[in-house]
Amino acid sequence: MKRATDPLPGATASGPASPADQELLAGVLSGQPRALAKAITLVESTRVDHRRRAQGLLQALLSHAGAAIRIGISGAPGVGKSTFIEAAGLHAIEAGHRVAVLAVDPSSALTGGSILGDKTRMEQLARNPRAFIRPSPSGGALGGVAAATRECLLVCEAAGFDVIVVETVGVGQSETAVAAMTDIFVLLQLPNAGDDLQAMKKGIVELTDLIVINKADLDARAAQRAREHFESALPLVANRTAGWIPPVLVASALKREGIVEFWNEIGRFREAMRASGAFERRRREQAVGWMWEIIQNALRDSFGSNPDVRRELPALEHAVRDGTMAATVAAQRLLALAGLS
Ligand code: GDP
Repeated sequence: MKRATDPLPGATASGPASPADQELLAGVLSGQPRALAKAITLVESTRVDHRRRAQGLLQALLSHAGAAIRIGISGAPGVGKSTFIEAAGLHAIEAGHRVAVLAVDPSSALTGGSILGDKTRMEQLARNPRAFIRPSPSGGALGGVAAATRECLLVCEAAGFDVIVVETVGVGQSETAVAAMTDIFVLLQLPNAGDDLQAMKKGIVELTDLIVINKADLDARAAQRAREHFESALPLVANRTAGWIPPVLVASALKREGIVEFWNEIGRFREAMRASGAFERRRREQAVGWMWEIIQNALRDSFGSNPDVRRELPALEHAVRDGTMAATVAAQRLLALAGLS
């Protein structure tokens, strides 16, 4: 998938051009499921003409987006993410919310396969008319998958979903991508210490605003020990959100225990961040970060696909590896060939 880096000749800054796209926009804004599905297919498409239309649509949707709470959720396969998201999602729907669940599946980017396994998950939530579940866009680099998900998130918000969950699975890079598009990042853990250490090692805990020890019903004492372990370690390593020490909750998604406490903590986080101005600040920084990511991807792509660069690259790389050419000389030559210096 090459979407984030496509050239967009003629993309407008003002919104959709054709009457059909204006109708699509109106359909999304009034929350019509078919319009939502169509808009998302459009923003996930890699075709250049689709990208252009998607940009017009997104620009028009932007002023209607932003009202949701954006929650990132990660954890190893089997920890209970889909069970937890279903329980939390149904609870939010009962309280009057509309819930969209999106996914960033790094395995779909790497292999075309799926760790998050999209078929039979969250059946109850999937059937609920106030929920929308979208599997991970597939193919291409993680950057492209994440960019598509980010655009889906905006479309869902404009369509009136006020709770957005973005799910991913424990391989560092995808967590970083999801943390960069969400307000609060939640890590699910099992009640055993081996698992805790893994997350610590991978640096994921540093991104985390809230930890949930799931499956506490299997071993309540182990869950309590894991909680204490994280509570003592977190203040030292978690640094995503200044002025916020990530709380650690114990839950059983299967028995729907700990779900109320989860939403209480999400609410407490949002209030604290709003009061300090950090909430809006984070979103603005994320938007700027996203812009730079798109630029960097586009530069890398245009460099890599330049025919002169492709012709010269093997020999120059070889010369640098052999020590017969200085890295700076080779880099300058290649950048000049790509018209970048
Ligand atoms: P995911 O891979 O992280 O999405 O995990 P799933 O939600 O698919 O759950 C994996 C397995 O763990 C399933 O068999 C669930 O029924 C089970 N599971 C999920 N949450 C709990 C829990 O709180 N307690 C127990 N005992 N099992 C759970």
